[in-house]
Amino acid sequence: MLAAGISSPFLRRSFLDEASSQAASTLSLAVAALNGHLRRYEALPALIADKDDIQDLLTRPDQKSFTANANHYLRAINTLVKSSDIYLLDDTGATIAASNFDQTASFVGENFSYRPYFHEAIAGREARFYALGTTSGKRGYYFSAPVRIFGTIRGVIVVKVDVDQIEASWPEAESRIIVTDPEGIIFMSGNRDWLYASLKPLTEERLARTRASRRYSDAVLRELPMTETRFRDHVLVTLSGKDGAAREYLALEEHVPDAGWTVHVLMDTTSVNSQTRTAMIVIVLSLLLAGFGLLVLIQRKVRRDEQLQMEIRAKAELERRVEERTSDLADVNQKLRETQADLIQAAKLAGLGQMSAALSHEFNQPLAAVRNYAESAALLMARGRTAEASDNVSRITKLVDRMASLGQHLRNFARKPNERLGAVPLANVLTDTLEIVAPRLNAAGARLEIDLGDPAPVVLAGPVRLQQVLVNIITNAADAVEGREVRVIELAARETGDSVIITLRDHGEGVPPAIAARIFDPFFTTKGVGKGLGLGLSISYNIVKDFGGELSVSNHEEGGAMFQITLAAAQQRMEAAQ
Ligand code: ADP
Repeated sequence: MLAAGISSPFLRRSFLDEASSQAASTLSLAVAALNGHLRRYEALPALIADKDDIQDLLTRPDQKSFTANANHYLRAINTLVKSSDIYLLDDTGATIAASNFDQTASFVGENFSYRPYFHEAIAGREARFYALGTTSGKRGYYFSAPVRIFGTIRGVIVVKVDVDQIEASWPEAESRIIVTDPEGIIFMSGNRDWLYASLKPLTEERLARTRASRRYSDAVLRELPMTETRFRDHVLVTLSGKDGAAREYLALEEHVPDAGWTVHVLMDTTSVNSQTRTAMIVIVLSLLLAGFGLLVLIQRKVRRDEQLQMEIRAKAELERRVEERTSDLADVNQKLRETQADLIQAAKLAGLGQMSAALSHEFNQPLAAVRNYAESAALLMARGRTAEASDNVSRITKLVDRMASLGQHLRNFARKPNERLGAVPLANVLTDTLEIVAPRLNAAGARLEIDLGDPAPVVLAGPVRLQQVLVNIITNAADAVEGREVRVIELAARETGDSVIITLRDHGEGVPPAIAARIFDPFFTTKGVGKGLGLGLSISYNIVKDFGGELSVSNHEEGGAMFQITLAAAQQRMEAAQ
């Protein structure tokens, strides 16, 4: 609205400028047309004054034929040049001949000595005058010239031009053309209502001057109800029409000195105002539209921002939840780790406890025995019973050996996986093994049946450690069959492709499924304290793994446990065989 307020005078001015230049061209056209029209008659009175018919009549005014000649001549010329009237005045101002001599409103006999055009011409000057005809009641523009006979002015020729015709040629347009006399009285106008109205206040002086020349005959003069304002360099007049409605006009005027009048152009500003209004409405609507567009854009941006905020919030919430879950998970993991660590710790302690119990039992018994034997040996020696004392000493030696073998076992537990592997003939390893296990087999009353096939396989292994594995599982088998009815242990070896499979089956109770998965664990034993350490199978399992092989257990379908050792076959076997 502020913009509209500012732009309104600006717009009005620019539209007024345009209207003004239009009006100016209308004005100059009207002035040119008026001048052109009147100029055609300018020289006519002087030409007519020289005519014999005119001169004759003035010389002999009483001669009837001269009057008739002059009348007919004037009528012919009047018709020819399309003027309103042409007439001849004598030196008293009386009309002695006229183009309208044969009409009812004939000028003949009328005296026009009061008209300025008579005064001027009788004084020897060509003159012009415009006035409302006192006889005809028609407005006219008068041209007059003196008639000289032998240098003496004897009369005046007057040519009256009808201004109605000129007026009729003016277009009925927005621009109204008016012509005012020097007193400001409208003499010609496209709008008949304005005729004889004054643009200037009708002062007594003005009225007196107008009365003297009888310019407007009996016409009633009045002031035109109008107000004049200025907008920048434009003159605006407001006139109230017949209907009382006020109309505003843009006024332009041009003074025509020759004719003694002023031509005005009044241009109705309704269209200017409506143009201004339309332009204003367009501007306001455009501004509103732009504002609306801006509003929509802003709203859209706000909505987008809100959405973005929401997305950010949702993302943050999601991240928070993920973090929460992650930390929950981390807590759980931490707890799990702690629990695992606790379990491992507990298992280690349990293992250590088991081992300590087993070891202390294993070592304490022989140590107690060694102590007894040593004490009694000392007593026996004091009594001189040296033979018995030496028997005691050899018992002590045996016990120490047993403890040393236990130590050996434990040392093996710390295995050496990087020991070089080589081709080991299974037959050789078994011979050494049998030397070790024979006393145990005998003690259990067990019989070992061996079937190595022909040729006996050669495996990729470390001979001492393979022997240790075999000692372990054969000793376990002896334990399993001890006290059973059938105390047979079967050892077989077969080469299949690149590997050698060694099986050892006993006829014991077999391995219950519940413990099958745990028997390779260190310190797992079902044997009583002092009998088993639970290390044999664990060590064996790791040794076979180090050889790149497999150690597994199953139960034979006819009863008894069956251990299977799978090892890589050594290539050197072929060479050895050759
Ligand atoms: P240990 O012989 O000192 O108990 P091992 O590791 O050699 O330790 O054996 C672990 C356990 O595996 C034994 O306590 C036993 O329960 C089971 N086991 C091993 N060999 C056999 C077998 N031939 N028959 C049945 N159970 C066996």
